Amino acid sequence: MRVLVAGGGIVGLTTAIALHKAGIDAVVCEQAPEIRAAGAGLGIWANAMAVFDELGIGDQIRAIAKPTEMYFRDPTGKFIDPPGFSKEDHRYLLAQRPELSALLARTVGRDNIRLGCRVADYVESDAGATVRFEDGSTADVDLLVGADGAYSVVRSRLVPGSDAIAHEGHHAWRSVVTPPEGVTVDQSVIVLGERRTRGGYVPTVDGTVYWLINQFGSPALEGTPKEQARERAEFLDTTGWNRALPALIESTPDDRILYNQIMLVPPLSRWVSDRVALVGDAAHALSPHITAGASLGVEDALLLTRLLVSTEGVPAALAAYERDRLPHYAKVNELSKRVEDSTTPEEFATNYVAFSHWMLTR
Ligand SMILES: Cc1cc2nc3c(=O)[nH]c(=O)nc-3n(C[C@H](O)[C@H](O)[C@H](O)COP(=O)(O)OP(=O)(O)OC[C@H]3O[C@@H](n4cnc5c(N)ncnc54)[C@H](O)[C@@H]3O)c2cc1C
Repeated sequence: MRVLVAGGGIVGLTTAIALHKAGIDAVVCEQAPEIRAAGAGLGIWANAMAVFDELGIGDQIRAIAKPTEMYFRDPTGKFIDPPGFSKEDHRYLLAQRPELSALLARTVGRDNIRLGCRVADYVESDAGATVRFEDGSTADVDLLVGADGAYSVVRSRLVPGSDAIAHEGHHAWRSVVTPPEGVTVDQSVIVLGERRTRGGYVPTVDGTVYWLINQFGSPALEGTPKEQARERAEFLDTTGWNRALPALIESTPDDRILYNQIMLVPPLSRWVSDRVALVGDAAHALSPHITAGASLGVEDALLLTRLLVSTEGVPAALAAYERDRLPHYAKVNELSKRVEDSTTPEEFATNYVAFSHWMLTR
């Protein structure tokens, strides 16, 4: 079986690793000239680590990540520990995206990755799919996997009218920096602040710090990204208990601050056809307030591979994949919405850990 994976993000690379491990011939086609990871830090939850362990790369990932716990504080600094959950529900690993992507790409192998290769379209037949690339060349494959992110070309062909939409007023700012002199960051501090702002900082494995600010329902943005982040950092500290965050933002060079309008892929009516399947953000770009889009996405990769191995024929395997994923992501969206709609820090923290508990134990 020959598989073409469109997109060399975390989920596309993981899909190729899973397929290779199952003895399936898979090539990743990435539009960028190199495998590079947009973003700064990435929280990897135990459900994703179970996938990476099964693929034989769990320990390599542990070596480049820092064990961390996701607990929230209110804007006065009060620690919130919702009752009824265990420490396991809060534990995750913080990795830096470039290191993680490089590790995954090394595992896939350079010979199996085509860079500067943009999928432009495909035509499906009973026997497979003919993929057309932007340079006009084509490839005949048994299966095309769309792992091409929120703006997926594969999805736009498979599910017309499913363009990613802006999550109105939801913005994110972040970076990874070395703490400036006089600022000590020895623990993770994540705050649920005023004006629907959340953020803080998390130490990484190499002594740098990942800081992040997010806001729902933000008014129109003014000023530079640094000014926007600095302004919102004030909503996370109403009593002056924590001046590290503004100091970290201040010390970050302007061009190292990543800013995003958050984009969502609305729930889809289908994820597959007979010869095409979607995985990762191409199928379900989620709001990052649950910090789990990639952790959930790598599960798609393993499930798809297992079904291809255990089911007779590609169309039946893809149908089984979709039967699993549609209700699964309906539940993800329901729990995610409950977190988003929370009106107090305590309610947000409780709904958040309820989501992570569900994700880790289902
Ligand atoms: C602010 C923020 C914080 C987040 N934090 C977390 C977190 O802590 N934990 C977590 O689990 N998730 C987190 N997420 C979600 C996570 O970033 C995504 O779910 C994950 O990166 C999606 O990976 P992907 O491989 O599906 O897509 P992408 O990372 O978008 O990769 C898609 C790849 O496809 C390539 N591509 C696109 N079109 C084509 C084409 N036509 N042909 C060929 N190649 C193409 C792109 O260049 C890209 O390399 C966060 C998201 C945001 C926005």
